[in-house]
Parts: sequence; C-alpha cells; structure tokens
Amino acid sequence: MASTSTAAAASATSGRVADFLRFLHHSPSPFHAVNQCRERLAKHGFVELKERDRWSISAGGRYYFTRNQSTIVAFVAGGRFKPGNGVSIVAAHTDSPCFKLKPVSKREKLDYIQVGVQLYGGGVWHSWFDRDLGLAGRVLVESEKGTYTHHLVRIDRPILRIPTLAIHLDRTVNEAFKFNKETHLTPILGMVEEQLNNTANNSDKSTTPVLEAARHHPALIKLLVEELHVDADHIRDMELCLYDIQPPTLGGATNEFVLSARLDNLFMSYCALEALLDSLEHADHVDNDENIRLVALFDNEEIGSTSAYGADSALLESTLRRLQASDHHITAFEESVQKSLLVSADMAHAVHPNYAEKHEDNHRPRINSGVVIKRNANQRYATTSATGLLLREIARQHDIPLQEFVIRNDSSCGSTIGPLLSAKLGLRTIDVGCPQLAMHSIREMGGTHDVQHAIDLFTAFFNQFAHLDKQLQVD
Ligand SMILES: [Zn+2]
Repeated sequence: MASTSTAAAASATSGRVADFLRFLHHSPSPFHAVNQCRERLAKHGFVELKERDRWSISAGGRYYFTRNQSTIVAFVAGGRFKPGNGVSIVAAHTDSPCFKLKPVSKREKLDYIQVGVQLYGGGVWHSWFDRDLGLAGRVLVESEKGTYTHHLVRIDRPILRIPTLAIHLDRTVNEAFKFNKETHLTPILGMVEEQLNNTANNSDKSTTPVLEAARHHPALIKLLVEELHVDADHIRDMELCLYDIQPPTLGGATNEFVLSARLDNLFMSYCALEALLDSLEHADHVDNDENIRLVALFDNEEIGSTSAYGADSALLESTLRRLQASDHHITAFEESVQKSLLVSADMAHAVHPNYAEKHEDNHRPRINSGVVIKRNANQRYATTSATGLLLREIARQHDIPLQEFVIRNDSSCGSTIGPLLSAKLGLRTIDVGCPQLAMHSIREMGGTHDVQHAIDLFTAFFNQFAHLDKQLQVD
C-alpha cells in the first residue's frame, strides 16, 4: 500500500526502486536491455552459453544465452533436477513501441536535415511530438580482420525533434489532433547550413563517411563515428531507435509513481530477472528444487512475436528440449512440459480516474495494489482456473497482494506472449502484469510499490512452484 509518510517516500527512492530506475535508464533499446540483464547475470556467476554449441547442464548450474542480442534466456538448474522434471518459467518482453531508423534515412527539406523513421508497434504516436529525442541501438562495425562486431550505441542528447504545428496555423488542434504517420512524424536532425559549415571547418577528412553515406545523412554518421570511435567506412549496418532522453523518475506526492518510457514491458522484465536472482539467495530452496527456474525475455512482442527471436518462434521449445536432453529418457520433454508452468508477465491497464467507464466495475486494477491476474474467456489471455489457483496460493502463503482483470465485453482485448506459448507447447500458463497508465505513450506511469510486489511474487513462485504443484495436483 502507498504510505503517506515522507520517510517511506525517501526509502522508496533508495535500494530496489533506485535500481529499477537505473535499469530503465540504461535500457533505451532492447539491445541495451539485454545487455543490462547480461551484466547482472554475469555478476551472479551465470555462464554464457551459445546456442550453436553443445550444452552440458549440471544441477545447481547458472546459465544464460542471447539471440539477436535482443532476446535473453537465463536459467538455474535446481539441485535435484533430472530430465523429465518441470521448468518454472517467467517470461516477458524487451521491446516497446518506438520509431526506428529507415534503411535509407537521409532526407533534406527546406534546409532542414531530417531522418526517415518507421513506426514500430502500436505506439501513442502523438506523445512523441515536442519531446527531446536521442538515438540508441546497435551498429555493426567491420574490424581490421574483416570480421564484424556488434557495438551498442547511445547518443544521449536531444539530437532529434518532431515539433508540433503552432496553434495559429491550425485552430482545430485542441478538438482533434490529426497527423499523417508518414509525412508529419519525420524528426528534424539539424540545419543543412550548420552541417556545411561544420564540414568546411573540419580538416580531419578521416570522419568523412564512405559506405553508409548513401543511406544515412553524413551528419548522422558523424555523430555515430564520434560516439563509437570507429572509422566511418567501417560502419556496415545499424539498427537504431529513437527514445526520449528525459530520465526515468519517481513522481506523485509521495513518490508513489514511476514515470518512464518503456514500462511496458521493462517493468516486468526487470522484476522477472531480479526475482530469479533473489531466489538464489535461498540456497536451501535451490538445492532442493527439482525444477529448472527460467526467465525468458523476448523481443518483438509489440509486433506480434513472429520473428526468429520472438515468442512465436521455436526458441522456448528448443530451449526446453535441450534442458531435457537425455539418451535414455526419450519422453523427458513431454513429461516436463506437463510439470511446468509459464508465468507470462506483461503490464496491465490500471483504472484511469478520468476514464473510469473504460473498466468493468468489478475489475478495476489499482496502481500499487499488486500484480494483476488477466483472464479472458476468448483466450486472449491463457490463465485458467487451475493456473490462477496455483499463483493465488503462492501469493496467499507470502501475503503478497493480487488483483483480477477482465476486459469489458464491449471493448477489444489486447494479447501477449502467454496464449502463444501456451498453445504452441501445451504448457500451463498464467497471464499477469503490474497495473499502469498511459501504456504505449512515450512517457508511461506505473506504481513504485508494485516493483517489489512483482519481485516477491515471482521469487516465491521460483522457490515454491515444484513443491506446491506436487502438493495441489491441479491441472
Ligand atoms: Zn507489453
């Protein structure tokens, strides 16, 4: 519950929540988010695996791998794990709606330098007007030896902007703000004249772009060269997205809100990973665990998960098969799936005080009142009464608050990775998420106290699921 004391507000800014804000701040792109996870895992003794190598998993071992550097899977084998046992899974996604650079991004118009962008996912695009925008993602750089390396890049200053049209030029703007997604959303990078002066004064010709110059404006290439300290003609390709440079912060009278971009779904990604790490502090639980505890953070959820590194690929299935590999136990995988549970964690819609009618009366998730269990009779969410019961029992034993959500019958329901993975694998699944406002806006709003609520819930799930599943025997 939100406390009103100043002391509580102060303590909320320390420790976990401060760490969460750091995680958000250092994750302007899925590549950065995965890198954040990788660093945290390495600190906790996780060993990196490559999917192209042969794996040898030992009881108690800690491992992770990445795919496309934008999806990451981390897992810990319980001390009593053997093939055929279950996997306790929490899955979320690393991507968020954003603008991505077009393959040919260079544009000049009326003496402005502009950058062509594509829309990624279903963003609230009007919220991107008049924001200070930086650029982040990855660049593939050719080395001296002719090999390629992936470089994370982040230009953390307002190099790009999409200005609104002044009200004097459009008096209807407050009744209906309309814009064309191709022509009105092109960000401005600078003035052509400044660029010409800059190049004329610059005697160092080594920064003159060669290869990518045909596709991207020299002004942009120059920024990347300065940031990466590589030669322009070694830059071979790039995947960059725009982001709001305003750092994440706490807000509200007693700091009860987290204000940031990408809460959907870095909020759940962070909580899933931190819960896995927290669960390792209970050494006796891990030693006695018959399951593997696993966190999967997928890219491409916002565009339907269909990609080689999205949840609709064979990634989770092939991972589970490899974990169950055994020469003698040929049905280990099939048995394991039936003993596993997927907690699919993706943010939920909190009730909005100005739009209360958008929620059904009995299902109005409140910020800071705990993780929301999402249900849908039409299976847009994969929660069943049995999976709901399992999670509620875990929450009850640890006094962790939970809430319930269904969408109104006269409203269309979003979906997430839960139903996909559940159907693909025949895997018991529960869809959950922390409540938030302004989902898919450039600046979203969540609950400070829900960070710990979610971490506590997932930690308890990792520590108890195998045991509780045997005890309750519901399916
Ligand atoms: Zn989401």
